[in-house]
Amino acid sequence: MIRVRRPTRVPSRLATDGVATSALDRRAFANGNRAFVFNATIYGHPSVKRVLVRAQHGKCCFCESKVTHVASGHVEHFRPKGGVRQDETDSLARPGYFWLAYEWSNLLFACEICNSRHKRNLFPLLNPKKRARTPSHELRLEKPLFLDPSSEDPEAHIAFREEYPYAVRGSRRGEATWRALGLDREDLAEVRRDHLRRVKVLVKLRDGSGQREHRDEASALLDEMTRPSAPWSSMVRAALGLPARAPTSVRTQHARQRRE
Ligand SMILES: [Zn+2]
Repeated sequence: MIRVRRPTRVPSRLATDGVATSALDRRAFANGNRAFVFNATIYGHPSVKRVLVRAQHGKCCFCESKVTHVASGHVEHFRPKGGVRQDETDSLARPGYFWLAYEWSNLLFACEICNSRHKRNLFPLLNPKKRARTPSHELRLEKPLFLDPSSEDPEAHIAFREEYPYAVRGSRRGEATWRALGLDREDLAEVRRDHLRRVKVLVKLRDGSGQREHRDEASALLDEMTRPSAPWSSMVRAALGLPARAPTSVRTQHARQRRE
């Protein structure tokens, strides 16, 4: 999991239809409605998704797999919109954060497995009594256990030993996040293991006594594999003993994308 730089400009579909629909939902809530039907053609509109996909280099915000090669992926709500659970065994508390259904700052791009099979309606808080239940509650009073890759650096909390994640310095939030998302699931560990094998071969080539040209090529490939655009870059950086990549501004990121 790495830092995600969501562009600050709100996509127009959210700024128009999203704002209008959210206003209707808030009014309905004030009138006693607690069941909402959300309009996926607004938050999941291609123009919204496209911006997220580009900002996240086509990767899932949680598992760092390249989603767009094999699936269309999901626009995921960091705070669940329809109902929320503090932990797996809780019954679903409705409504969820319905007023954030069309909120740009609440949207990320995720793979189907992380989103639908693991995260779902889970959104644990350090103190569940502080949970915002209405639009007038201040979200800043909540202390989510899950890491929000769009507002903080997950690599300060989750690192890798070989292909498996662990919580940095026992971070409770790191632990809660990787466990809930199943970031150690075997099918994911398997592809990361294969990737790591290639990394290790390249390190031998780079540090060996072979031709200069081959050593340079291995070095360049390893550098590419540590970039935010590369799959499982956090694991690769950990394998190479590199620190987490310093966050870059959106402008720098786009300039880099143009060069690549
Ligand atoms: Zn994923």
